[in-house]
Amino acid sequence: MQLQQIAYQFNDYPSLLFVPAGRKYPEIRSIGHKEERAALSRLQQAAAQELQSVPEEEMTLLKTFLGTDRPSIPLPVYKQERLYPHLIRPEMFLWKKHSVQRGLPINSSYFYPEVYGTLSAQDLSRHVKKVVQEYLFCARLNKLERKHWLEKINSAYTQHPLIRLASSKEAVIQAVEIMNKSSLLGVLKYPEDISYWRHRVEIVMRPYRSIPPAWQWTVCSHEKELTLHADTDSIICTCSACRYSVSYHVSKDEASLPDEVNIPQATKRIATIERQFNEIAVQSEETMEKLHALKEIQTELAQHAPIITHIQDFQTRLENASETHPAAAIYTEIEKLDFPNAIRPDLLSLANISVPDASVLRRAESWCKQHSHDLGESLARHLQKLQELAEQHKPQADDVMFEIKEFRLLRSHLEKIQLFLQEETVPNHMLVQILRGEATSKIRRSGFHEAEVFGLLNEWPAKYITKAIIKSC
Ligand SMILES: [Zn+2]
Repeated sequence: MQLQQIAYQFNDYPSLLFVPAGRKYPEIRSIGHKEERAALSRLQQAAAQELQSVPEEEMTLLKTFLGTDRPSIPLPVYKQERLYPHLIRPEMFLWKKHSVQRGLPINSSYFYPEVYGTLSAQDLSRHVKKVVQEYLFCARLNKLERKHWLEKINSAYTQHPLIRLASSKEAVIQAVEIMNKSSLLGVLKYPEDISYWRHRVEIVMRPYRSIPPAWQWTVCSHEKELTLHADTDSIICTCSACRYSVSYHVSKDEASLPDEVNIPQATKRIATIERQFNEIAVQSEETMEKLHALKEIQTELAQHAPIITHIQDFQTRLENASETHPAAAIYTEIEKLDFPNAIRPDLLSLANISVPDASVLRRAESWCKQHSHDLGESLARHLQKLQELAEQHKPQADDVMFEIKEFRLLRSHLEKIQLFLQEETVPNHMLVQILRGEATSKIRRSGFHEAEVFGLLNEWPAKYITKAIIKSC
């Protein structure tokens, strides 16, 4: 930043750097009115004393940070000649540039709340000590760009022991979460082992669950807010979108999480819940056999998928007119299941099985029994039967669509009426007159006495025609 271009130095106050504050006042005309001189002297004294004990190396950093040839702390002057009552926080200058033509912005977040002129000697020296410490901290941070610090924070985060453990055990962690919600838990042995396992899962998974999804297992990609803590030599990196923050220790180049855990214990625990689950899977032989059987049925049905879907289409069209083929009946349900290439009695393999409803396992046995050896042939025969049935159910012109007493409305009649109504808009009573063949003057004027449907139902009583229309059109 170009602080040296707007700042002023005065020999009487060598430890203070006078900077114009307030947007309209880029210059300083004079400093410290008479009544302000005392405060100015006390501040100079406190700053000089504090800066005296700063090691050479840090002193150089501070001079570079503020762009001055002697170590000092900035003191704001506003309206060209009045001392501003609060000292400036170093964040005002960190990774920022300010315009030479305008004074520094007066924004309370960039100023300390303390009114330095009213502090006792002891409080003033404590305040100045803190200010100097924070300037030195920022002078160190200013050596690198903000984005470089963010990179350092990212890499320290990924190196954090819990994050490293989580990312190396990612497959197990995910498998535990999937299995914990899986319908298969209900068919594994034994219920008391399962409930103990689930109880352990709640404890063991807690540290991983406390980390937001976007931070698994690198820092999220949202904008970050960095808050500086000179007293603990750390930067707090916060994501407001994820509502999560981590601390970064500058000298140690290490990150720490909001809830630190005992790493050797966490490492042991994650291995234990995996082992305990594997033991459960091994003792659930019967379930394992059923899963293998289901996978086999699925593979076999998949080979006949085109003919099965064909059969299902016919069955939908024929509604209840036909018997269903057992393979077609189970196909839709079996198709929904998902199996890994190899089914093994362990956590990682079982977590890859998707069985939305575990009751399908109970039915697996009976399906195996009904399963015919020549499935292809049996499906082909069934399809043939359905095709014949469909032929018989094909619509015929003399299908009776509506019947009342001795009057029958045939498909061919209905189709003619529907066609007429698509082309003409007539009120119901007039449609009845047309169908009965009553050539009223209105009907003649409209030319409907020439229509194909005129007199189509001439033997029907008017009230039956109305009923037929309401029911069928
Ligand atoms: Zn985020």
